[in-house]
Amino acid sequence: MRFNYRIVFIITALVFTLSTSLTVINYLTSMETTREQLKNSALPLTIDNIYTEIQKNIIEPNLIASMMAHDTFLIDWLSHEEDDEQQIVRYLETIQNKYQMFTAFLVSDKSKNYYSAKGVLDKVDINSPNSLWYFDFKKTAELSEINIDYNTHMGTELIMFINHKILNDDYHMIGATGIGLKTSYINDMLKVFRQRYQFSVYFVDDTGKVVIAEQNVKKLKQLSDIPELAKQLPDIIGKGSQVFDYTRAGEAYLLNRKYIAELDLYLIVEARVNYFTKTATETFYFNILLSAIITLLISLIIVLYVRKIHLKLDKLASNDHLTGLPNRRSFHEKLAQFLLLKERNNNNLSILFIDIDDFKFINDTRGHDVGDKVLKALATTLNTNVRKSDFVARWGGEEFIILLIDSDINQAQVIAEQLRSQVANSNQLSLLSQKPVTISLGATSVTGDEEIDAILKRVDGALYKAKSTGKNCTVSA
Ligand code: GH3
Ligand code: MG
Ligand code: MG
Repeated sequence: MRFNYRIVFIITALVFTLSTSLTVINYLTSMETTREQLKNSALPLTIDNIYTEIQKNIIEPNLIASMMAHDTFLIDWLSHEEDDEQQIVRYLETIQNKYQMFTAFLVSDKSKNYYSAKGVLDKVDINSPNSLWYFDFKKTAELSEINIDYNTHMGTELIMFINHKILNDDYHMIGATGIGLKTSYINDMLKVFRQRYQFSVYFVDDTGKVVIAEQNVKKLKQLSDIPELAKQLPDIIGKGSQVFDYTRAGEAYLLNRKYIAELDLYLIVEARVNYFTKTATETFYFNILLSAIITLLISLIIVLYVRKIHLKLDKLASNDHLTGLPNRRSFHEKLAQFLLLKERNNNNLSILFIDIDDFKFINDTRGHDVGDKVLKALATTLNTNVRKSDFVARWGGEEFIILLIDSDINQAQVIAEQLRSQVANSNQLSLLSQKPVTISLGATSVTGDEEIDAILKRVDGALYKAKSTGKNCTVSA
């Protein structure tokens, strides 16, 4: 019986395929869940949080700027030749300090002076790029605007200016006033979102140019610098809130944007998907490895267990349970094998057929157990008194058969006689049965290309003759 490894291979492949499929399904589901969670929850929430924070920071300064624009003192002062500069400086200083604003300013349309708490800083000039904001603002129909800009007189930081027009009684613009806020709170917010969630948050204008981004962090200059975003730019620069997919340097990103009307800018929040799916990916590889190891272990256990059973069954099928000798079936196989060999080599082959004399008597007088012990002891005696290459088997009951390799009939006869006297003189056997145990033997040698049945019949006949001629002897045929 040969052990079939194919079935173990099939079982292993099935178990591994099954566990791997489950792991893959699990992984894909968790990847999809993470993406959906980012798309539908984390990114929009971030957008809303930032938007709320900005609104909160704009409302109060906007009210102050509006109040300044409607202040009759300012209107009157501008209308009366701007005569006492110190008055306006004190006014702007008070506003700036009272409300803890970064700056408070006033621009006169008539003199083009730019007043701050430090006095006249500058003059707005239509030809100076620094002053363009004023002339652009003047042109618009809006009464107020928010400008995120630099002011060379106020350092290098981006400042959010809330500008309001000052109108006289005839609704003519006589100047502009307002306050300036440091945008560092925006920077802090962007930093928090980057550090806590690894989100990149920045603001772009309607051309996709990055206007506000976290300081000291390598940033994008323009959305269209990324080819995939350049293609989607017309959609990104749109209203509402929407999520876009894109790949950059081989990594998947999700981008959410919202138009912030107050700033006329687009708030962009980006997430690198891999950062959020990292745990799922690690778990995936771990699970694959684990299922491979478990599958291999299961297969190994199956192989070892089934092999053990196989060997046991094999032994049971080919060996005699009591004596441990090969059984009649094994003998048949062995004989058939040597007959084929003989056809090629023409080597000598002989058979001894052995039967215990009066074994029934031993059983009857000493008991079946002793009978068994006699059978076992005889098996050992036979086995130890022939060559290793010879083949001793239990034929059945108290009958044994020996295949003598490379022995002709004369040699077989000699071996038979040796065995017979060994048994007859065995102390162990006579002690067991309380009388000498003897055996009768039939001997024959295999001649030409004979049939197994014919050989067995001949040697059986020889044994029969040995029995009928008084037992404890060998007859050759
Ligand atoms: P003979 O000299 O003519 O061979 O006589 P015998 O008594 O040896 O032969 P017989 O065929 O009359 O009896 C054989 C006995 O062997 C009968 C059977 O119960 C016994 N026997 C067969 N197998 C076993 C076995 O495995 N154990 C024991 N204890 N006895 C067995
Ligand atoms: Mg018998
Ligand atoms: Mg007998």
